[in-house]
Amino acid sequence: MFDPENLKGKKALVIGAGKSGVACANLLSAKGFRVLLTEGRSTAEVKNALKALRRTVEVETGGHSKAVLNCGFAVKSPGMPQASPLIAALKKKKIQVFSEIETALAFSRAGKLLAVTGTNGKTTTTVLLGEIMNAALSRPARALVCGNVGIPASEAAPKAGPRDAVVMEVSSYQLEDSLHIAPQAACVLNITPDHLDHHGSMAAYIKAKERIFKFQPRSGCCVFNYEDANCRRLAKACPSAPLFFSSKRSGGRLNAWAKGGKLHFKTAGAGFSVAPPALPGAHNLENAMCAALMALHCGAKPAAVKKTFASFRGVEHRLEPAGKVRGISFINDSKATNVDSTLVALKALGRGRNICLILGGQDKGNPYAPLLPLIRRHVRAVFTIGAAAPKIEKELAGSCPIFTSITMENACSSLLEIAAGGDTALFSPACASFDQFKDFEDRGRKFKAFVRKLK
Ligand code: ADP
Repeated sequence: MFDPENLKGKKALVIGAGKSGVACANLLSAKGFRVLLTEGRSTAEVKNALKALRRTVEVETGGHSKAVLNCGFAVKSPGMPQASPLIAALKKKKIQVFSEIETALAFSRAGKLLAVTGTNGKTTTTVLLGEIMNAALSRPARALVCGNVGIPASEAAPKAGPRDAVVMEVSSYQLEDSLHIAPQAACVLNITPDHLDHHGSMAAYIKAKERIFKFQPRSGCCVFNYEDANCRRLAKACPSAPLFFSSKRSGGRLNAWAKGGKLHFKTAGAGFSVAPPALPGAHNLENAMCAALMALHCGAKPAAVKKTFASFRGVEHRLEPAGKVRGISFINDSKATNVDSTLVALKALGRGRNICLILGGQDKGNPYAPLLPLIRRHVRAVFTIGAAAPKIEKELAGSCPIFTSITMENACSSLLEIAAGGDTALFSPACASFDQFKDFEDRGRKFKAFVRKLK
């Protein structure tokens, strides 16, 4: 466990000059530690990140020198594998390696920590949970949202006071580090195979997820998806109170379920029903139930849940309405960087054959054939873009008309000639963006800008 008192006087090594590494180096330096930030990439590659670094932090780029072994402890960036030679060398010298979020939390006075993990839906759930907690807390107390959502824990958590709540998105990479965190409320939204190249096996991936609840107090809770067999199995090892939601069944041992257009809650403190947020898809009902159960456990009243559900409009680039052109609704789902996410989108928006689907980008090596049943049922035509186009066209051949569009702009324009009024133009690429865009955010913003132009 990261204990600032025990580590006093020791030199800190921060590994990785990403956003969270830089924030952590700044935090440790501000707390009086001497800090060395080490980065494998060249100075040119991390120039922008380094601009935010305090001058008191020593930096080395383009590799790791012997100086790293003179540090008293280390904080590693979540992307760096435990099996890397640097981590092995530190461990051999018995230099303790901490995760960035654990380090950040050691300097936080937050009254409550709420931590969200799962394979899919983390960001949506974290943002919604932050909004519910902000509606629930009386000012000046507030919820600080951080973690993978864009604001590093090292930046947000130390700002929290005893009446504030820290709401944190925690990735499986972070959980895999020997992470000692004790959230009052945690969750595991779902567990499907992902990042297996990093974790090595499904068993190791599931094991990593345990860390979200492993050190929880008995008075805490951890929320699980009852429909996910991996979640149900994991819940048996939970030391706090396991709570369950389901979007498929109702009652029984569930604490939240969806029925008759409403979400129903049954917890120790509350039993009530509420209209869900106006977001498409059963997956968003799950995210909403999960966020609400966590907030209720941390003292939020049903009124705060109701009020927040009524106003929540989702997170940018996730099934985000981008405007209507000639009666066709354009949807920005640029965050769909894999086939599973595009399946979720087709399930959420398919109503008969109403979808014109833009697919493609940088291929991730997985098959597109799992899309076939839903494409046959719901898709009027597919428009392919980017490097993966030939592979997509080959695998989906015969399912519906397929047009090679090369670029997103071309796809949007040609789609207008084929779509009927009331149709949905879905930009859910099922691929990474790096062949034609900076990242999925850049891709989504450019899509929205082009739709505005078409209008
Ligand atoms: P994450 O932060 O875990 O990547 P996001 O909230 O950013 O999750 O959602 C990413 C994508 O994951 C969405 O576009 C959607 O396709 C899918 N998704 C979101 N919530 C769920 C869920 N509860 N179950 C399954 N898939 C989901």
